[in-house]
Order: sequence, then C-alpha cells, then structure tokens
Amino acid sequence: MSKKNIYVTQPYLPDLNEFMPYLESIWENKILTNGGPMHESLEKELCEYLGVNEIALFNNGTIALLTALQALRITGEVITTPYSFVATAHSLLWNGIKPIFVDIDPVTLNIDPDKIEAAITPQTTAIMPVHCYGNPCDIERIQEIADNYNLKVIYDAAHAFGVTDKGGSILRHGDLSAISFHATKVFNTFEGGAIICPDKKTKVRINNLKNFGIVDETTVVAPGINGKMSEINAAFGLLQLKHVDKTIQRRKEIDENYRNVFAGLKGITVVPQSGQVDANYAYFPILVEDEFRMNREELYDYLKKHNVYSRRYFYPLISDFSMYKGMKSASKENLPVANEIARKVLCLPIYPNLTNEEQQKVISLILG
Ligand SMILES: *Cc1c(COP(=O)(O)O)cnc(C)c1O
Repeated sequence: MSKKNIYVTQPYLPDLNEFMPYLESIWENKILTNGGPMHESLEKELCEYLGVNEIALFNNGTIALLTALQALRITGEVITTPYSFVATAHSLLWNGIKPIFVDIDPVTLNIDPDKIEAAITPQTTAIMPVHCYGNPCDIERIQEIADNYNLKVIYDAAHAFGVTDKGGSILRHGDLSAISFHATKVFNTFEGGAIICPDKKTKVRINNLKNFGIVDETTVVAPGINGKMSEINAAFGLLQLKHVDKTIQRRKEIDENYRNVFAGLKGITVVPQSGQVDANYAYFPILVEDEFRMNREELYDYLKKHNVYSRRYFYPLISDFSMYKGMKSASKENLPVANEIARKVLCLPIYPNLTNEEQQKVISLILG
C-alpha cells in the first residue's frame, strides 16, 4: 500500500494560472480592501449562487459569528450545542454571553429540539444551533420554540455551504446565519466567512459593525470590529465559485462509495443525512459501535499507523474544555447523547482530490 499520507481533508486549489488575471486587476486598481470591486462581486455572486437575499462577507467565520450576535444585541444566556467546533461557544463568551448546552439528537447529531424548552430561563435571549456536518437542524421546531419564547435564532452554518431544503438554501432560516470559508471548508477563500441576512437594513448594521462602527468620515455609531474580507480573499472566492459545483460532485461520489461499502458492515454506523435536498458532502462521519472489532481510539490509531489521518470531530465536546467544564449545563448527566457520540465518532477522508485508490485504501483498512 502507498505510504503517502491521507488527511481528513485537503483544500481545493484551482490552477494557479487561473488566479493571475485577478491579481493583475488588483495590482492595477490598487484597491486592497474596504469593499473593493472583488468584494462587491463576490457578495453579488454568492447571493445568486446560494439563492439568498443579502450576504455580508467577513475575514473569517468566527468574527462573522461574533458580529451576528452583536448585530442582534444578544445578551444574557444563549442555548447551543456542545457537539461542534469550539468557535461556536467561544463566540458567545467573547460577547459576555453565557452558553447553555443542550444535548443532541442521536440520529442527526444536531441540537435536540425536545430538550430546548427545559433550558430556557428569564435570561435566555437566543438559540444558536449548528447544522453539524452540513446536515440541517430541525428548523421548524426550533423556530416554533423561538417564536413561543420570543428568542432570536442565529445558526452557526459554518458547514452548510450549498445545502438546500425544499424551499431553497438552508442559510435563509433563523434571524441570521454565519458561514465559514476557512481552508478546510467546502468553499474556501483561504480564510473567510459571511453573515447571511434577510434584508438590507440588517446588512447595513452588519457592514457598520464589521468596519469599526464607522458610517462616514466623522461618524462612528458602534464599537465595531475589523471583520472585513480583503480583495485577495474575495478574488480567490470568485475563482473558487467557478469550480465549486465540480468539487461537490466529486465529494458526492466519494460519499456514495463509502456509504455503499459500509452499509452492511457490522459495528459501523454511517451518520445519515437529515432531509436536505442538496447535500454538500463536507464530512464523512461514522460511529464506531461497541460491536466493531476495535473501538474508536484503536481504529483512529490503526488508520494513523497506516498514514490515514482521520479526525475525531467532535471530540472532546466543547463542554469539556476548561472554560466551559464548570458550567451546570456542561455536565455529563445533562449531555448523555453528545458524550456517547463523541466517544464513537470518526470523520473519514473526503475531499475533491482524494483518488479512488486512496479511498480504497481507507476502506480496506476499515474492512480489515
Ligand atoms: C470552521 C468553523 C467555525 C469557525 O470558522 P472560521 O472561519 O475558522 O473562523 C465555526 N463553527 C464551526 C461549526 C466551524 O466548523
């Protein structure tokens, strides 16, 4: 077998020559940032591609999340999931908001709507669910609860580029959605992110907040931050957008291959999709069940020994990191499902340039 390392993901990069005209244009006009022509074009093209009303680009997904919370003036307590990348809860702490962790659904691995109401207190102002692995949350139930209790909903949609339901992009749901264009995501601009918002008025507020709160030369209306995406990242996004359908198609083939092979394999559960019309095949999570010939840690080490670098997304749970661990909602008793899944989950390599031979190697190692 080949000795070449196989990682859980590898960023897609178009041919470098294709990027040169974009760079020449930037060098020509000398606009490097602050909403230049590349930035404006990417916002427009992403709105069209994704089918959403308004998009505000950011320098990364975390600053987009922070700003989304600021834009809606969220305070107090926010209900969220422990089963995510740590930036989800960090965005709350950075805003002085207390995260309240609620357990996940054992099938979708997204926040369990049945458990949200019990976590609501007079301090609760919002829910921050995550479309984990690009699988949509139970959007209707979450909105129903939010409406009943007068809460805002901000989706951490970092994984959800290009995912649709019957009505279109899942990014249109909630009050706001934040997405990431980090190197490891389905659509990347090296670093980058965005807030998807329903109307122009909200977008103007977000635009102010991402540029220090500046409105004009003599007016600053809010303690904003520097969240702007540069022209070089935006230009790269414009080029990536030309390739993204092809890369998602290749991810789909890899996903189908894995699913077919593991369908009958005892001890391996493939995490199912959760009702999306278009998936993005961002991750390929499996659960290593107790009846498998080795446990998750052993399989992880075994693959690594053979140069296959799978990842334990999401282990440890966010609620197990030191800055969250002491909170009442972070206890193991409050989060039995999340703790079980974190113990069993393993994400397998999936990315556009993964070859059939490389995928076959991963499969053979797991089949034994
Ligand atoms: C990647 C990611 C983020 C952070 O996005 P960055 O662009 O890396 O700042 C936030 N939440 C989730 C769930 C992520 O996977």
